[in-house]
Amino acid sequence: METLTCPACKIKVYENPDFCDNCKYPFIGSEKEKSIHIGKFISKKGVVQDSSNALGNVQKILFFLGGLNILTVIIMYSSTNSHWLDLALNGFLALVFIFCAIFLKKAPLLFTILPLATLLGVYTLNAVIDPMSLVNGIIIKVLIVGSLIYSMYLSLKARKFQKLYKLG
Ligand SMILES: [Zn+2]
Repeated sequence: METLTCPACKIKVYENPDFCDNCKYPFIGSEKEKSIHIGKFISKKGVVQDSSNALGNVQKILFFLGGLNILTVIIMYSSTNSHWLDLALNGFLALVFIFCAIFLKKAPLLFTILPLATLLGVYTLNAVIDPMSLVNGIIIKVLIVGSLIYSMYLSLKARKFQKLYKLG
């Protein structure tokens, strides 16, 4: 049986189809139709790369947050008037962020939702204890939360694309 590789989605097709089963590449179309299809396919495929870039940023943010919490623990530990509960909480947060950063690429959605929920919990708790704390570094907070949510959105879009076109 003659096999052909679809120029757009790279899946193997057998015999001589009019259209690719997977992505509807027009084997019978004109050169112009073919190149328009490939162009559209590549531009949609861009979401996979965008998602991977966003995930790389999330990983950096999580390592940064983990490092920040470790630093806080060290500073608290060397100061005499810090409460052991604060110390334990910051140590726990450092572990959560670093753990999620390490395993992020294995399960992007789970290990983005987990630190996101943790962060929102911490911000809320701090705001209840001291409402002014919410305003502290508000831009950084919005940037961090926004990056995590945006990355989750891209992950979902990329996953949808990969499922639709049977890409790994
Ligand atoms: Zn195809």
